[in-house]
Amino acid sequence: MKTFNFSAGPGCLPDSVLKIASLAATDYEDSGISLMEMSHRSTDVMNLFDNATSRVKSLLKIPNNYHVLWLQGGASLQFSMVPLNLLPDKGIADYIETGSWSTKAIKECNRVGTVNVSASSKAKNFSYIPKKLIQNESSSYLHFTSNNTIYGTQFKKFPDPLNPNGYLVADMSSDIFSRTIDVSKFGLIYAGAQKNMGPAGVTLVIIREDLVGLNHREIPTMLNYKTHVLKESMFNTPPVFSVFIVNETLKWLEKIGGIEAIEKINNNKAKKLYDEIDLNKHFKCPVNIEDRSIMNVPFIFKNNSFSDKEFLAFCDKRGLKTLKGHRSVGGFRASIYNAMPEAGVEALILSIREYTRNL
Ligand code: PMP
Repeated sequence: MKTFNFSAGPGCLPDSVLKIASLAATDYEDSGISLMEMSHRSTDVMNLFDNATSRVKSLLKIPNNYHVLWLQGGASLQFSMVPLNLLPDKGIADYIETGSWSTKAIKECNRVGTVNVSASSKAKNFSYIPKKLIQNESSSYLHFTSNNTIYGTQFKKFPDPLNPNGYLVADMSSDIFSRTIDVSKFGLIYAGAQKNMGPAGVTLVIIREDLVGLNHREIPTMLNYKTHVLKESMFNTPPVFSVFIVNETLKWLEKIGGIEAIEKINNNKAKKLYDEIDLNKHFKCPVNIEDRSIMNVPFIFKNNSFSDKEFLAFCDKRGLKTLKGHRSVGGFRASIYNAMPEAGVEALILSIREYTRNL
C-alpha cells in the first residue's frame, strides 16, 4: 500500500529525491564518502551551493540586485534577524497578523522597535486574510506571512506598502516555490526549507542588495545578513546535507516544468479537495472561501459528536498519515505541498467519501 504523508511540516518530499538522498548519505557521487562527511570548503560542496543558489534564482526569476542566502535557525530566527538588520533606531514596521507565526514575528520585532499591527484576523481565529490595512506612513517595511500553515489561509494578492520608500518582507515558509511571485516587490523573503524545499535545518533568505549592511545597531556577527553575504553562506559550517536535498528537490521541480507548472498542479489538487469538502454533507472548511490556502487544507466535522480519532484511524489504515488538525483549529488538516502527488489527494477524497457514506 502506498503511504501519503499529509504532515504540515516537515512535509512530504518527492520519492525520487529521497532515493537520491539515501545514496548521497553513504556514497556521494562515487567519491566513496558520505556527503555528510565532506568539508564545506571542498569543490564538490562549493559547487553544490552555487548550483542550489542558481536554481533558486532561475526558478523564482530573481532580479540581479538580490542575494540568496542559506542560513540556520529556522524561519523563527528570521523573526529576529529581520528587525535587527532592517529596522532603524526607533523605527516602525507594519505587520499583518494572520496567525501564530506572524504573532511570533510581531513579538520579536517589538523587542527591537515599534510594530504597527496594520490588520489582524485574530478575533475570528485567523479564518480569513484581512484586506483593509492601516499602515504607518513612516514604516520601514510591511511584513506578512504569505501562507498560514496552521489556519489554512493564504494571501492571493500581495499588499502594497504605503510608504513609497518602504518594501515588503514576507515569511513564505509554507508556500515558497508553489506559485509564481514577483520578487522585485520584496525587500526580503524568508522560508524554512521543511515544507516545499527539503528537510529542516536550512532557511532560504532572499535579500535586496541595498538592505545588506544597513548598520542600524550592533548585532551579533551570526545575526548580520552582511556576514553571510560576504562569506556566501559559509561563514560557519553550513547544513550541507539539507542544501543538497533542496537542490535535488529544485531539480525535480524544474523537470516538472518549474513554478508555472507546479502552480497549475497545486491549484488543481486543492480544488479537488475543497470541492469534496464543500459537497460532503458531514465536513466543512472553517476558512473564508476566497482566502483558502492551496497548501494546507483544514476541515472539520459539521457535527461535533462525530469522532475525529475514528476518522484519523480510518485514514491511517489506508496509508493516509498525519492528518490531525492543529490544536487551535481542531479536526483535520491535509497539507498538500508540491511533493504531494495528485494520487494522494484522490486517495484522501475516496477515504472521506467512504467514511461518510454510512454516517
Ligand atoms: N513560519 C511559518 C509560516 C511556518 O509554517 C513555520 C513552521 N515551520 C515557521 C514560520 C517556523 O519555522 P521554523 O520551525 O523553521 O522556525
